[in-house]
Amino acid sequence: MNAVAQADERQRLALRRPDLLREAGFVDGTWLETSERFEVSNPATGGVLARAARLGAAEADAAVAAAHAAFPAWSAQPAKARADILKDWRRLILEHAEDLARLMTAEQGKPLSEARGEVAYAAAFVEWFAEEARRVYGVTIPGHLADKRIVVTHEPVGVVAAITPWNFPAAMITRKVGPALAVGCTVVLKPSELTPLSALALAVLAEEAGLPAGVLNIVMGDAPAIGEVLTTDPRVRKFTFTGSTPVGKMLAARCAATVKRVSLELGGNAPFLVFDDADLDKAVAGAIASKFRNTGQTCVCANRFYVQAGIYDAFAARLAEAVAELRIGDGLEGPTDQGPLIDDRARGKVAAHVADALRDGARVLTGGAPAEGAGAFYQPTVLADVARDALLCREETFGPVAGLVRFETEQEAVALANATSAGLAAYVFTRDNSRVWRVGGALQYGMVGINTGLISTEVAPFGGVKESGLGREGSLFGVRDYVDTKTLCLEVEPV
Ligand code: ADP
Repeated sequence: MNAVAQADERQRLALRRPDLLREAGFVDGTWLETSERFEVSNPATGGVLARAARLGAAEADAAVAAAHAAFPAWSAQPAKARADILKDWRRLILEHAEDLARLMTAEQGKPLSEARGEVAYAAAFVEWFAEEARRVYGVTIPGHLADKRIVVTHEPVGVVAAITPWNFPAAMITRKVGPALAVGCTVVLKPSELTPLSALALAVLAEEAGLPAGVLNIVMGDAPAIGEVLTTDPRVRKFTFTGSTPVGKMLAARCAATVKRVSLELGGNAPFLVFDDADLDKAVAGAIASKFRNTGQTCVCANRFYVQAGIYDAFAARLAEAVAELRIGDGLEGPTDQGPLIDDRARGKVAAHVADALRDGARVLTGGAPAEGAGAFYQPTVLADVARDALLCREETFGPVAGLVRFETEQEAVALANATSAGLAAYVFTRDNSRVWRVGGALQYGMVGINTGLISTEVAPFGGVKESGLGREGSLFGVRDYVDTKTLCLEVEPV
């Protein structure tokens, strides 16, 4: 049955370049096969798209060795030479954007329009860091003694290990690999086993762009075994992870033994604050963009809606009306706004959060139940009068459910927003300029969207405070996590 499903799924992909779909790992410029396989399926249909090589510790070790061997030559290249290859990679990504988007929708489930957007976003990181490659400036510092000269340089940290999630199968890769390659690091990447196809297709294009063997390696399959190598091998000098908070904490702890530099981009629990003086149209549009993008499966998705009493009823009604119009479906079959959740477990969590809220007196304004279809579809949902201590407010739901909580004062809203161990993104809707500054300053978050639900761009730093992570990705700050600062202190003979 699976064989038939696989043929169907492949046909539906209709790739212009069928060779972009790879099932082997990529180590030292070679496509690495094994007899052990794992299935990659389409979450919208359950159909099998590919049987990928199930790699483990031995292949991870080989990948680290390849990256380690490739580092001296790659880091010694002039920045412009590395930038030129990155620019070619970006051009190829854009040339094959439609194929990459279709592969992504098939393995991840997001609407095709969103997949196209993510491919452009992924390419934008490559472009940005190709540009930044030539601007990794050091400084000279006035010497502390008459015969001393001090020069500070930034040097690539060495081999970078990256583990990435399934919710952005391309952009989370280029956001890490882009800066790493730009500054002269080499990389071993483990994409999510749920979405390895986007990663492997990117590798095909990187190779075509002229990236030397061993500079970018991809291994996937036995995540714990691969993770063990990537977090303990002393040749890996930097570990960068995007994913769930418990896994990130566990992997970061393992990196301590060899004192790797660690960047973490973990879970959020984003508050979305709507004040009485907000522009209602903007607040509703922002809520849809922030909450329902990727079917609620982004770490910056609004998770808790705090709405001031004076605007509460109007906002609830308008939001419910807009959410009821979202089209659910398989992204490869016509225009949709909402795909399936990544799997049944994810849908189970959404259903549990909704049930918990309803038990405590929440009201369903729209949705509130699984939706029909072979995949893990769930109706886009708006709940009113959610209790402040509901699961929806305490944990990241990672699904298409907006739970509304009423508040009275600004201080109350800020206190509610900050009452969490997470600190990734927050959103504020108000037309009061003083409030923008007050609340924007008081929110303990790495990113605050003000009168907008979309904050992600390659030009701005992305990252969290508190338990949402360490380090920043994108922007001029994005290269910092991949370089070490070196001080050269010179003694000069007096004249
Ligand atoms: P999510 O809930 O978003 O899937 P995870 O943290 O489980 O978040 O997954 C993010 C990435 O971490 C994926 O690439 C996954 O394979 C990887 N991962 C999960 N558990 C481990 C582990 N024990 N060792 C190494 N990688 C892991």
